[in-house]
Amino acid sequence: MQPVFIPQPNTLIAIHASQAGFPVRRIYCVGRNYAAHAKEMGVDPAHEAPFFFSKPADAVVANGADIVYPPRTKNLHHEIELVVAIGKAGYNINPNTAEQYIYGYAVGNDLTRRDLQAKAKQLRQPWETSKAFDCSAPISKIFPATQVGHIRTGAIWLKVNNEIRQQADIGDLIWSIPKLIAELSCLFELKAGDLIFTGTPAGVAAVEPGDLIEGYVDGLEVLSNRIVIK
Ligand code: MN
Repeated sequence: MQPVFIPQPNTLIAIHASQAGFPVRRIYCVGRNYAAHAKEMGVDPAHEAPFFFSKPADAVVANGADIVYPPRTKNLHHEIELVVAIGKAGYNINPNTAEQYIYGYAVGNDLTRRDLQAKAKQLRQPWETSKAFDCSAPISKIFPATQVGHIRTGAIWLKVNNEIRQQADIGDLIWSIPKLIAELSCLFELKAGDLIFTGTPAGVAAVEPGDLIEGYVDGLEVLSNRIVIK
């Protein structure tokens, strides 16, 4: 069968020191994975199991590209996160072998329409409009684990207009990356091309058109995007 129109091509993310691109399949995100952020969201994280939501692959914004301020919100929040890129398929993965499924790492921003999310929580409605909108997933280049090793600790921060907003250590993750991969792979078969946003530290706040957002994870690169009005 021929497609009736030309299909949208796969989203490709640049790979550090490579001409090749990383084809994105699915984007999974984990909620409330740093205790201080869970508390600022009004939740005691002590015994909470990890929970997941997702974004469409075409929500990716490349490093350096503009982020179009989304409609129907007055409270667009930044959430700096370490992103894990999956390099091979796996199901029911053991946490002890989970790092073998990692292709590499990137810096991501889980942009959130916080006002719509608060309303969704209140009305027990789904999170798509608050999390999965166009331009909601700015991501840096992907750094292969074969070059940078596996990330278990290290600084993570985010600045808006050169002012620090979020600052923490990857070692503060409640659910470690191997445990997240193991848990997620019991819910969905993971495949090469999947991305996992691993959660944001405390300090989430609003951004406005014209703001420059810069985020970083030790060993990777600064993710830099400006908010614009379309
Ligand atoms: Mn997040």
